[in-house]
Amino acid sequence: MKRSPAVAGDVWVVKVGSALLTHDGQGLNEQLVRDLVNDIAVLRSQGKKIVLVSSGAVAQGMHLLGLKTRPRVIHSLQAAAAVGQMGLIQSYQSSFTAHGLRTAQILLTHDDLRSRKRYLNARITLTTLMELGVIPIVNENDTVATDEIRFGDNDTLAALVTNLIEASALIILTDQQGLFESNPRVNPGAKMVVEALASDKGLDQMAGEGGELGRGGMTTKLQASRIAARSGAHTFVCSGRETKVLQGIASGTFKGTFLKADKPALAARKQWLATLPLEGTLVLDDGAVAVLEKKGRSLLAVGVISVKGDFTRGELVSCVDPSGREIVRGLTNYSSAELARIAGEASQDIEAILGYFVDEEVIHRDNLFVV
Ligand code: GLU
Repeated sequence: MKRSPAVAGDVWVVKVGSALLTHDGQGLNEQLVRDLVNDIAVLRSQGKKIVLVSSGAVAQGMHLLGLKTRPRVIHSLQAAAAVGQMGLIQSYQSSFTAHGLRTAQILLTHDDLRSRKRYLNARITLTTLMELGVIPIVNENDTVATDEIRFGDNDTLAALVTNLIEASALIILTDQQGLFESNPRVNPGAKMVVEALASDKGLDQMAGEGGELGRGGMTTKLQASRIAARSGAHTFVCSGRETKVLQGIASGTFKGTFLKADKPALAARKQWLATLPLEGTLVLDDGAVAVLEKKGRSLLAVGVISVKGDFTRGELVSCVDPSGREIVRGLTNYSSAELARIAGEASQDIEAILGYFVDEEVIHRDNLFVV
């Protein structure tokens, strides 16, 4: 089916699964890594921004340690991941270097993305890397977390990264053609889901019947598509064995499963922000109120009169006018202690007052919403 090339947008999170990347316990499939990197390099030259989320550390570590079967003990898997991550990154780095592209290693946990402070730090690092033209390669930090080792093979992590950078698409590359109405390994006549809303409840039954409830099966991919949809991203599940699969998505000729987000990006993101607990209040002067009431402007320290509550960077605060009327809410880039010192000051004086500089804006316009 020919789909509009525009549907996937320009900022992609591409997730690569372990089964795809490794030859059954024989270590990394270097040819597949090279083919994937070639595909990404072409898209980069077309102006797409790509973050790669790659599994395969455990599988590569098992190979390097000579383990024939996947250990059942979690800390053995964590140790294998620590060994394998080196080889995984080396392989990507040498393939990307051949295209003149730089890479960066990012190790994250689900908890990092739940903490607003670490969420904002991860977000700014990833977006800075993308602006620098670097390809960030993300994996779970398996030494300190076990979410993906136990359940997801990075499907959920990739979806959280999609939210984090507000990517337009989450692309899950797997060793299957897409998502199937029943398990294709058991039922060779199983039909593939070509297109559906990520929110479609009917898909849950299929995932259940598929019997693929283990790590990285259909269930985690479906859940990942719903997380991605929260920030308005569409999900594509397709075969990473197909050559130029990413170029196929860009040109609208891809074969696989397309799970549509049913909310526009901005509305979805603001909805997500609105679920965060409110940790404090900023009282703004009339000038800042007037600026914020015009859409699309950020809040600067100069417009803050006073601060109530005890909050850290990345937490949600309410912005009120001098009479206490709420104007907007947003994620603050500065803690309450920092704001108490920089309230009323010009952005260029922040560094002199605090001894460091975090952001020009107290709340960036992307992180502001009207209640
Ligand atoms: N983060 C893990 C890896 O990259 C997840 C995959 C797994 O559990 O095998 O290897």
